[in-house]
Amino acid sequence: MAAKIINGTEIAAKKRIEIAEEVKKVKNSGVTPGLAVILVGDNHASRTYVRNKQKACQELGMHSVLIELPQEISETELLFKIEELNGDQNIHGILVQLPIPKHIDEKRVIESISPLKDVDGFHPINIGRMMTGQDAFLPCTPYGIMVLLEEMGISIAGKHVVVVGRSNIVGKPAGQLFLNEHATVTYCHSKTKDLKKHTAQADILVSAVGIANFITADHIKEGAVVIDVGMNRNDAGKLCGDVVFEEVSAKAGYITPVPKGVGPMTITMLMYNTLKSAKNTLQS
Ligand code: NDP
Repeated sequence: MAAKIINGTEIAAKKRIEIAEEVKKVKNSGVTPGLAVILVGDNHASRTYVRNKQKACQELGMHSVLIELPQEISETELLFKIEELNGDQNIHGILVQLPIPKHIDEKRVIESISPLKDVDGFHPINIGRMMTGQDAFLPCTPYGIMVLLEEMGISIAGKHVVVVGRSNIVGKPAGQLFLNEHATVTYCHSKTKDLKKHTAQADILVSAVGIANFITADHIKEGAVVIDVGMNRNDAGKLCGDVVFEEVSAKAGYITPVPKGVGPMTITMLMYNTLKSAKNTLQS
């Protein structure tokens, strides 16, 4: 039987309506949630991502600021800009669009963002809080995956979740969030031996690798939930995930397509985190 499609576009739209309602309430209390996005250099893909984030802010009634800095800006100047935003009361979320130029230390930049405004959830303090099950800004893509499953009514506790990929922004935190929800988690990566042996045991398989046609039907168990995080281009230049959709969807129980799967949830959770940060200022 064909897998049920997890429609990220529909679920994101529903979540955005809820967020817009909450934004109205917060604004009535005198605070407009504000997101500052810093774009260093002129990377074409980054520019598109940044534009989409600003558009989402506008649609949800949030304040957004784009700070464009030249490719050759020094690390000190960038850190100074972040420090300014840390102290700006109209800004509740700060995001530095990655990648940044190689002469700037990415870790130092991430750590310079106030953990209270780290709406990307990349700061070690938020990662540590997430790991220890405390309230934290959760990284947007993994968080989006959890919301997709919740909305589909897919239970997690006791399931075997296999995550392929261990990046700091997707794979590692995704596995941690599943662990927090009482799954048994296996991480796979480029040094994993006999990948299929692991993936074929997954009740829930998350692929965050970045290689087109990487996951085929023989990687998965009949009826598995398959979450495709990959955003790749196929030979025809068309956007595609890591999963060979046609054959895997014939065997899986649930599957996220690419596009219209995980992708729309990432920006939605960024908006959610910015709103949460603004709400936090009302409580403090
Ligand atoms: P990274 O390149 O940082 O990580 C890729 C991971 O895949 C690494 O952990 C790597 O292992 C692993 N890997 C590579 N080759 C293999 C292999 N042959 N077998 C098993 N594992 C392998 O990518 P990201 O985590 O940043 O992103 C992953 C994908 O998700 C990309 O396509 C990206 O575009 C997409 N993405 C999508 C988002 C969305 O909103 N939908 C948001 C963010 C990313 P190792 O650690 O050993 O090198």
